[in-house]
Amino acid sequence: MSDMIMTVTGPVTPDTLGIFLPHEHVMSTFGADFARYPFYPVAEVWSRVIPYLRHLKTLGLGAVADCTAAYFGRHPELLRRISVESGLSILTNTGYYAAAGDRYVPPHAFTETPAQIAARWTREWQDGIDETGIRPGFIKTAIDEGPLSEVDARLVRAAALTHLQTGLLIQTHTGDNPPAATQILTILREEGVSASGWVWVHAHQVRSAEPLLKAAEQGAWVSLDNLTPENASHILGLLQAFKHAGRLGQVLLSHDGDLYCRGDFRPFEYLFTDFLPQMRTSGFSDEEIRLVTVSNPARAFTVQVRQL
Ligand SMILES: [Zn+2]
Repeated sequence: MSDMIMTVTGPVTPDTLGIFLPHEHVMSTFGADFARYPFYPVAEVWSRVIPYLRHLKTLGLGAVADCTAAYFGRHPELLRRISVESGLSILTNTGYYAAAGDRYVPPHAFTETPAQIAARWTREWQDGIDETGIRPGFIKTAIDEGPLSEVDARLVRAAALTHLQTGLLIQTHTGDNPPAATQILTILREEGVSASGWVWVHAHQVRSAEPLLKAAEQGAWVSLDNLTPENASHILGLLQAFKHAGRLGQVLLSHDGDLYCRGDFRPFEYLFTDFLPQMRTSGFSDEEIRLVTVSNPARAFTVQVRQL
């Protein structure tokens, strides 16, 4: 079978997606109570999200990975309607989010084995999520601060097992926690999964490039995913470090925006309006910009088992 990325409207050829934001939220209920099936006021979501996504499309956006996990607002059916109406490719995810003090981890994840949890996630890949027929495009996990908790480690291991059965990319909300990143890479290795099947999410929170480059040397993807005016110069500095190390081919850029949530509207256009011009004036070529905004996410999200 030829290369593909799985979106909420079905498989697409990776090199057709254009600029691809690997970590955003079209909508979420983050902060609300744990809920298997989220409630959204659909007309309100629609009127806020559709015009904005159409606007982003005119700026050059082609695809978005929606990182809203199950239990804090994942809604594949609504994402599919939004994808069709906006003309953007959208990916949803399988997996559980064990940051935020585990409040969005379902009870069964504390008692089941990694293999049992992986079977649930793999079923979503094979049969679609719930009754929607919509398949996930990646695996989402998240950890809290400090060393991996038991449930963090169990879910990372479940993600590794799921990767081996599905070829879906693993994204782990890790942030400024290099020791945990090392632990995660160890678990992947134990299960025979290459580091190239894993993304260090919120990696820009690390102040120095060194631990990120170390993970990249092992093969990991590094996600600098909170593009804002405040973070721009730091992220630009990390990009320069990756460029000098010859590792620009492993960086992902995004905003961690959220167009419909309980807090403020978090846009995802800074890349287009400000950051790409800043990259150009800082000496990044069109080819390098294309690498980090188009080719890298296309390669990262291509469904492919990455064994050691
Ligand atoms: Zn996020």
